[in-house]
Amino acid sequence: MRCLICFNEIKKQGIHSLFFNAPICQSCFLKLNRNPKDIPIEKGCVHAYFPYEDQIVSLIYQLKGCKDIALAPVFFAYDAFFLKIKYRDYVLVCAPSTEESNKERGFLHVEEIFSFFNKPFCRCLIKQKDFKQSSLNKKERKEAVKDIIRCLDPPLENKKVLLLDDIVTTGSTLSRCVELLDELHPKKIEIVTLAYTMPKNGGI
Ligand SMILES: [Zn+2]
Repeated sequence: MRCLICFNEIKKQGIHSLFFNAPICQSCFLKLNRNPKDIPIEKGCVHAYFPYEDQIVSLIYQLKGCKDIALAPVFFAYDAFFLKIKYRDYVLVCAPSTEESNKERGFLHVEEIFSFFNKPFCRCLIKQKDFKQSSLNKKERKEAVKDIIRCLDPPLENKKVLLLDDIVTTGSTLSRCVELLDELHPKKIEIVTLAYTMPKNGGI
């Protein structure tokens, strides 16, 4: 079996390979610098797995920008097994991209990253347009996401919901998603993202 990142033959050695769900070699996995953190955002706390730097940045670009969909399983190669158990009775909801970028890309990258759950996604969140968050301050970001993300009306009452995204940066988008999902009275909402950036300007 060959590693999906470096294409070298994977030698079955090391205890870690017992848990691995995807073909990725130990040295590529270590380069991803897995370092799970709980990132507080305005409306909750995000369980995130990798700092958004170096290798993970280029892999996410390769997946999203170059449409290298085969790479999707490498990110949670190590955690998929545990996440599937931990969230087995949760409804999966992805933070939305715009219809336009989904069409342009041809696939929903967040769904691909979390496809290891082997469960359908509830596509209830809709993003109406893209905007640059980085140029806005905290209050402006909050106002901006308020108008552009909306929620359909799926039956989530009393359900446990797992909200998923690729990266948490300011947390504004995810907080808005939580706010909208909360209106449907779920029993609980947890948030998982692949990567996290450390906020430069005070965050959330
Ligand atoms: Zn490799």
